[in-house]
Amino acid sequence: MAENPFFAPSSLPYQLPRFEEISEEHYLPAFERGMADHLAEVDAIANNPEAPTFDNTIAALERSGQILNRTATVFFSIAASNSTDGIMAIETEVSPRLTKHSDEVRLNRALWERIKRVTTEDAEEAWLLEKYREDFIRAGADLGEQEQARLRELNEELSRLSTEFSQNLLKASTEEALVVTDPKELDGFDEAQIAAIRQEDGRYVLPLLNFTNQPGLAQLTDRETRRRLYTLSVERARPNLELAVRMATLRAERAALLGFPSHAAYVVADQTAKTVEAVEEMLGQLVGPAVRNARKEAEALAEQAGFEIEPWDWSFYAERVRKARYDFDADAMRPYFELNRVFRDGVFHAATQLYGVTFTERPDLKGYHEDMTIFEVFNEDGSPLGLFALDPYARATKRGGAWMNNLVDQSYLFGDKPVVMNNLNITKPASGPTLLTYDEVNTAFHEFGHALHGLFSEVRYPRVSGTNVPRDFVEYPSQVNEMWTTWPEILANYAKHHETGEPMPAELVEKMKAAEKFNQGFMTVEYLAATLLDWAWHRLAPGESVADAEAFEAAALEAAQIAFPLVRPRYRTNYFAHIFAGGYSAGYYSYIWSEVLDAESVEWFKENGGLARENGDHFRKELLSRGGGMDPLTAFRNFRGRDPRIEPLLKRRGLD
Ligand SMILES: [Zn+2]
Repeated sequence: MAENPFFAPSSLPYQLPRFEEISEEHYLPAFERGMADHLAEVDAIANNPEAPTFDNTIAALERSGQILNRTATVFFSIAASNSTDGIMAIETEVSPRLTKHSDEVRLNRALWERIKRVTTEDAEEAWLLEKYREDFIRAGADLGEQEQARLRELNEELSRLSTEFSQNLLKASTEEALVVTDPKELDGFDEAQIAAIRQEDGRYVLPLLNFTNQPGLAQLTDRETRRRLYTLSVERARPNLELAVRMATLRAERAALLGFPSHAAYVVADQTAKTVEAVEEMLGQLVGPAVRNARKEAEALAEQAGFEIEPWDWSFYAERVRKARYDFDADAMRPYFELNRVFRDGVFHAATQLYGVTFTERPDLKGYHEDMTIFEVFNEDGSPLGLFALDPYARATKRGGAWMNNLVDQSYLFGDKPVVMNNLNITKPASGPTLLTYDEVNTAFHEFGHALHGLFSEVRYPRVSGTNVPRDFVEYPSQVNEMWTTWPEILANYAKHHETGEPMPAELVEKMKAAEKFNQGFMTVEYLAATLLDWAWHRLAPGESVADAEAFEAAALEAAQIAFPLVRPRYRTNYFAHIFAGGYSAGYYSYIWSEVLDAESVEWFKENGGLARENGDHFRKELLSRGGGMDPLTAFRNFRGRDPRIEPLLKRRGLD
């Protein structure tokens, strides 16, 4: 075997990973050597005979583990976007070992004693030192031997359960899918959709997507098919109910070991929210008005339908109300949203107008898939900024949703410029141009907001680079970038008919904006119900037992006054991957928490003339460039000039 490509830094521009040379057999040896090297480096730091200094301890830790870091970065990017059975098997094997490895580092007593003795006068160093102390204390560095031994067991079991939860869910999406033999039952779908789900044996199989409310429910005219699809969605992956109970119980036990009354209290302590009371106060302000709005919408839907609707009827009649009341047809927008134009003349154009940055395609640089495109990004003065990689299309090997990830973190410590990427899940047409829905265009702007956060990072240390900020802060810059989707000058520049080049009629945009206001009640209730369900699972007291997960879920929604039979949580317990298989346990509140800052910032841009270079520069300098290198709310205040207020959010969501 040639030299493992993970053993040395990539020689490609910006250290873009050498995807063409990486194959599956490289990962395990690279993980193994990466973990071994990292432990040796950590031991050398911990046992350094010299007196502890920032440089020989904290900066040394920042410099350690490079093989492991390179390997994990590429591996988890591929596992999300281009997975195979082989990759999944490696993931199953390596995930608990990585958990164990992380405990080896953070529960190293000699290292912890050394970190406690480091002092520094420099503000950026002091902030990072504090992060390290928090990380170690939160990992259990101060606990006794027995408690640490239990902690290691809990972490390992939680890691295994989380992988099992996500694999059950992945299987359920196809094994518990809607199966139809008579195409008449699919009435409402267009030909391309029907062709896409037709199997060789003549059956039609519609896989289940992540969330409760399957998109097909808006189109399927047969009520019985809708009922079946909805029921399959909410009942899927039932073995996960038991795993969820076990995980919530173990997390409560771990929180108690670490000195917290609940997992939620443990999680929010290092977020911008800080306390469970702060989160609950905010959610409490939203629940009542959101449920009232949803009830009003339900009345309009029943009127449209002519009968009392059921949950599987909601999307179908919501579309009909939109057409009747607002004369808006979402499909009419698609011919104006061609993928390449959306990016080059929309997403990139907005960044050029705001920040002066420009983009040059680099066909000489390759990703891990032929559908990827890589762009070099330059500052206004022509200096290189970093790389942006785009992987736009859905495929069977890619998980659902859209996300940004870093392939190389910006840091002055290593002199590294950022390499960031965006993943979307747009259906690739058999031929011809790729036309997007309005939601897909908005998602493209959203994910690029994360990309800018990574690209504009100007920090010394990788631990706090770019999007390495609290989870309840990270969605804020990306949500702000959505404002340019329909900003008139930007929209006029990219929304042109793919055949005629005609601009999108202004009235279509106006109708869309008016129609968008309808169904806000549904969307807010669906989101809040999931948030409060996450919250209930993670407010369990240590030792508290749950006999029946479904009864627990129903009681939790009832207690939070969000129980509304027509609008179930966006994710029920059995398929709530964010909290049982992802990093969002007791963190699903983050989206609306970040939206407070987002709504405030959008207001600031509007008050100051909107799309203007000086506005972009101000946002970039005070907020985007800071990454996680300072207190995030201080950065917000420096940008906005005041503390965040909730009113702009309430107004936007029709909750005022
Ligand atoms: Zn996001």
